[in-house]
Amino acid sequence: MEKQGEKKASEQSTGGRLLLFPMPLQGHINPMLQLANILHSKGFKITIIHTNINFPNKSNYPHFTFEPISESLVENEFEGSSAADIGNVLILIKLLNTTCVDPFRDCMVRLLSEEPVLCLITDAILVFTQAVADKIKVPRIVLRTGSLSSFHVFHAHPLLREKGYFSMEDYKSEAPVAEIPPLKVKDIPMVFTHEEESLHEIMEAMMKATKAASGLIWNSFEELEQSSLIDIRQDFPIPNFTIGPFHKYFQASSSSLFTQDRTSISWLDLQKPESVLYVSFGSILTIDKGEFLEMAWGLVNSMQKFLWVVRPGVIRGSEWVEPLPDGLLEAVRKRGHIVKWAPQQEVLAHPATACFWTHTGWNSTLESICEGVPMICSPCFGDQPVNARYVEGVWKVGVVLENGLERSEIESGIRRLMVDEEGKEMKRRMACLKEKVNLCLKQGGSSNQSLQNLVSYIMSL
Ligand code: UDP
Repeated sequence: MEKQGEKKASEQSTGGRLLLFPMPLQGHINPMLQLANILHSKGFKITIIHTNINFPNKSNYPHFTFEPISESLVENEFEGSSAADIGNVLILIKLLNTTCVDPFRDCMVRLLSEEPVLCLITDAILVFTQAVADKIKVPRIVLRTGSLSSFHVFHAHPLLREKGYFSMEDYKSEAPVAEIPPLKVKDIPMVFTHEEESLHEIMEAMMKATKAASGLIWNSFEELEQSSLIDIRQDFPIPNFTIGPFHKYFQASSSSLFTQDRTSISWLDLQKPESVLYVSFGSILTIDKGEFLEMAWGLVNSMQKFLWVVRPGVIRGSEWVEPLPDGLLEAVRKRGHIVKWAPQQEVLAHPATACFWTHTGWNSTLESICEGVPMICSPCFGDQPVNARYVEGVWKVGVVLENGLERSEIESGIRRLMVDEEGKEMKRRMACLKEKVNLCLKQGGSSNQSLQNLVSYIMSL
């Protein structure tokens, strides 16, 4: 593994500048910045274009150039927040795709007048960048930060809609989706009824703009999502590059928007090997007070040790952990350690970590697979239910809590993974997946080969 920003002399001849534009959310910024580091290590010069909200600490990337676009997101609805739930995320996506068009075009025109550019790489959700790229004749390659399988499901939205899945009364149905096994009806990303139309519009625009792009980069690897890759190649007949997992190319990720609490590691250092459940629901998801209390009871009743990330704002209407009554807080502290934000990749790689209770955001899912850590899945929206279904039903390396956040199911889910024999089997299957990760990144491995293809492809544009 190389250090961030390190470059082999033999690779410096690639040259040429790439412009990268991430979607301004933590789960999208991390993979884009990791991709930037990978491409920089191949000799490309990197410029990161960013909005006024949620951009990473530039001092961690002295080897990149940063270019803000002069959109006005800070002054409107977001006020610099991290877009705290799915409703906000949909609003953010719509706003980005309208308010950023002119500032982005102006920025591109200026940059192109200063220096030639090989290509533009933007997040799949930044749909408007395709039309701008077409107009000023710069090839655009798309980075999709989620899994191939979930993108295939998003692509199938019109079909699923035609078949009546979106008008089903029982949208929490356990019935299988015959068109896309192993999906259940409740896994289809539907969000709230009043947001349904927006969701369809965004999906349609994203698919159209992706098909018009010059290529598609995935933070995944062939061996993990082989059958979805076949589907995706049919859905998107453009060059596809599965070069992940991105974060395994370099030592540390430094694109965190929140301060990482290092006591996570010092606390883990004091625990027995494979004895701790790590709990985190990512950077966007929110829960209500009742769900939070159910989580706390489930954790305490499981009698296992746990490291719990409670992000400030995660509990709607509360600052932090104040909904916990004194007795319960004491019980939580007896077995667990609570932090506001953890160095997640380090936590997952720590010998004391046994399992991960996750919302199955794609980065978290992939990071867990890379460290061979089985998962308890509590998916909420977007691609999360699809990822969770794959964790349980395809890779068989975790369990899905099917009834939301409910203390007895939480307790039994934790015990199934941390205590029972089936947890040990999942751990063994995870060890095989982890080995596949190591192989795909080595010389001649699938991701290594795909990365070489990507570099040659960019040079040929
Ligand atoms: N993360 C972290 N510390 C935490 C929780 C999450 O560093 O305490 C990182 C995690 O490693 C991952 C990202 O935040 O890279 C979350 O992305 P994901 O796709 O899992 O979920 P999202 O936040 O987009 O819902």
